[in-house]
Amino acid sequence: MINQNFLKLQSSYLFSDIAKKVKAFRAENPDMSVISLGIGDVTQPLPQACIQAMHKAVDEMGSSDTFRGYGPEQGYEFLRQAIISNDYQPRGVQLDLDEVFISDGAKSDCGNIGDILDTKCSVGVTDPVYPVYVDSNVMSGRAGCLDEDKKWSNITFFPVSAGNQFVPPLPQKHVDIIYLCYPNNPTGTVLDKDQLKEWVEYALREQSLIIFDSAYEAYIQHDDIPHSIYEIDGAKQCAIELRSYSKTAGFTGVRCGYTVVPKDLRIPHPTNKNEHPILLNSLWNRRQCTKFNGTSYITQRGAEAIYTPQGKEEIRNTVGYYMNNARYMREALVAQGYKVFGGTDAPYIWLQTPAGTTSWEFFDMLLYNLGLVTTPGVGFGPSGEGYVRLTAFGKKEDCVEAMNRFSKLAR
Ligand SMILES: *Cc1c(COP(=O)(O)O)cnc(C)c1O
Repeated sequence: MINQNFLKLQSSYLFSDIAKKVKAFRAENPDMSVISLGIGDVTQPLPQACIQAMHKAVDEMGSSDTFRGYGPEQGYEFLRQAIISNDYQPRGVQLDLDEVFISDGAKSDCGNIGDILDTKCSVGVTDPVYPVYVDSNVMSGRAGCLDEDKKWSNITFFPVSAGNQFVPPLPQKHVDIIYLCYPNNPTGTVLDKDQLKEWVEYALREQSLIIFDSAYEAYIQHDDIPHSIYEIDGAKQCAIELRSYSKTAGFTGVRCGYTVVPKDLRIPHPTNKNEHPILLNSLWNRRQCTKFNGTSYITQRGAEAIYTPQGKEEIRNTVGYYMNNARYMREALVAQGYKVFGGTDAPYIWLQTPAGTTSWEFFDMLLYNLGLVTTPGVGFGPSGEGYVRLTAFGKKEDCVEAMNRFSKLAR
């Protein structure tokens, strides 16, 4: 017998549909250069600080004195300590070593975390959304069934659009597990401290769990935007935080991230009131020790080097490069009269399509008239209709050329 939940999954044709259209366009227009503003991956190389650290770690593996076999399932202390000292203490957040778990990236733990939660829990996500939150819950049987308007019966969607300034409205009914991603993929928008506080207060009031994905934390430029949910009082009692070095330091192919599970996350014992509450931290530790054997030593040494003065400067420069692209495109589009969101604290720009034009119609227009590839917003959820996503992960020259082409579009 198979896990029949997999049969409920909706096939996503978004990126394959885009690829098909681009391929056909290239075949018919061999002389036109196609520029992709749809790149969902970083393009700049790893910081030299990481490369040097990883070379050194490789050499250590080649000598019996310094060879390392299985490491701790939770990750090496050197990296966990560097995370606490650099990512949290300067922001006034104190964490213990055993509250930080090194992972092979945020996507894995995004799905894995469901292992320690009841499959009867209800789920809430923003619309549009990073599809992993939904599909991983479909696989584990937590999504319910799909109704006529293509919504899951056990998932509450919080619609975000220009109408609500991309601030998700608090749910009217109780939701057990809430996924929040800020800075946001796909919209590139952020929540300030007061807006995030509303969600923390909701979760404390409703005894909900927030899974806070801050994969784009390194892109935050403004002081009033929280880098960690734990900057909000009470968040340690209601939130798990996912982080990744993928977008921070170009680790999309190297694979490393971490998950914070505070020991303040306590659930009353489900069957015996006289028993001590259950710590999610203990369950997660047990889960990791059973199903995960750690991220490679070489990778963790590479990640540690991100926190050296050289590493910090290098990632500042790389993030600065992408954010320069974002600023350039944002300003060019605004000057041309477009309505754009995001792009100030995230490498994504969420462009409102001209009135009466759908996401796909605008996508087609940009491709067929200008040779520009974007991502139709509706592919990330119904509330993404009327938008396209532009990414800042390309080359500066391409962003400049893309904006020149935009200006040729009759409006
Ligand atoms: C890129 C991305 C991640 C990071 O995934 P990794 O598995 O760490 O590469 C996580 N969440 C979102 C929303 C992302 O866009």
